[in-house]
Amino acid sequence: MNERRQMPPGRGPEAIVVGAGVFGAWTAEHLRQAGKRVLLVDHLGAANALASSGCESRMTRSAYGRDAIYTQMAHASLAAWQGLSDRASLPLFHRAGALFLFDRMGEYARDTIAVHRELNLPLKELDRAFLARRWPQIDSRDIAFGLHEPAFGALMARRAVQELVAGFVAAGGIHRIAHAAPSDEAHAVLLDGEAYHADAIVYACGPWLAKLFPDLLGSRLFVTRQEIAFVAPPPGDRSFGPGALPCWADLQGEDLYYGFPDLEARGFKLALDRHGPPFDPDNGDRRMSAAGMETLRAYLARRFPALAERPFSEFRVCQYENSGNGDFLIDRHPERAEVFLMGAGSGHGFKHGPEAGRLMADLVLGRRAGPEPRFALAAKGDAHRRTVM
Ligand SMILES: Cc1cc2nc3c(=O)[nH]c(=O)nc-3n(C[C@H](O)[C@H](O)[C@H](O)COP(=O)(O)OP(=O)(O)OC[C@H]3O[C@@H](n4cnc5c(N)ncnc54)[C@H](O)[C@@H]3O)c2cc1C
Repeated sequence: MNERRQMPPGRGPEAIVVGAGVFGAWTAEHLRQAGKRVLLVDHLGAANALASSGCESRMTRSAYGRDAIYTQMAHASLAAWQGLSDRASLPLFHRAGALFLFDRMGEYARDTIAVHRELNLPLKELDRAFLARRWPQIDSRDIAFGLHEPAFGALMARRAVQELVAGFVAAGGIHRIAHAAPSDEAHAVLLDGEAYHADAIVYACGPWLAKLFPDLLGSRLFVTRQEIAFVAPPPGDRSFGPGALPCWADLQGEDLYYGFPDLEARGFKLALDRHGPPFDPDNGDRRMSAAGMETLRAYLARRFPALAERPFSEFRVCQYENSGNGDFLIDRHPERAEVFLMGAGSGHGFKHGPEAGRLMADLVLGRRAGPEPRFALAAKGDAHRRTVM
């Protein structure tokens, strides 16, 4: 996948995309499809182990409370993911369904239902008795109701991005391993210290973005430490597989737990979606904490009793790169017309990769006059108060 092709002499790239996570990879692919010569650069490789896109799986769902913009983007992106999955040798999208569980009818659930009705999108409301019959492996005694989206499910994150980049390279794009740094020279980026030039340079550097643009973004992006665990289901028990259990999110009071069925025999995955302490993507400690294990163990005992005593099979520590409220950043640099900034996936960006990449490509290609207002740099505050979930 790396450096398989060289740009023909005298024909440098028209666009350079820095960062081959889900946002950069889809941006590069959309620009390539628009006929541009594109160089996609990453200092550690596509969807690498330190990147936010480097995890095993990511959920796709369209329940977003009142934030209809993400409901629509999730739907629009789903077809692109399905297309990529259909062309791959192993599935990249498992249509396991996405199930939200609620302890009461609150604002988030009410708004989700209203948005889906307005947009005429499918969403099933399920009462506790139905939940208990349909998914007996979930202890639903304290659940009031569920919202189910059968068309959604799990994306195999790392593999999906790597497949996308492999297709990009096979179709003529260039992918190169190099460390990028912004240059003071117009239309230039330093790759391992050497200046490369292009009409447009997109920085899609996930949790590293503020390191590259500290003055501009240092106070507007909040990188947080997030822990995930996998649990081995009981041998021979198929009730935790993707045919039997959907991806799920459990909103109980202020806390949101979420997880995945046992995809590709890797284990049942679960996490608490609470923002952790500040985290450095280069040097942060990626070992699971004892307190995190205890929290997840207690949750398992309450919600998935058959897994309460099962061993953890794997842990992963990753990072969210949050904007103040959870909205993405997809905009032009305020002082450099040829430089573009993309990131702030905020713990929910993966599923939107195809649409986020299209929005960025449209901006680069001049197909849009300006950014989507919510994704503008000017809309990014310096207070860390999440509203998008
Ligand atoms: C624990 C966890 C759970 C999540 N769950 C979900 C979910 O269920 N559903 C969902 O939709 N989203 C989810 N997300 C969010 C989603 O994973 C991220 O929003 C998304 O992956 C961000 O992609 P990105 O391309 O912006 O960043 P990244 O994937 O981090 O990519 C940035 C890339 O830039 C490269 N780079 C950085 N600096 C340089 C440089 N100077 N030179 C060259 N290359 C550079 C890096 O190596 C990296 O590959 C979750 C995130 C986490 C951490």
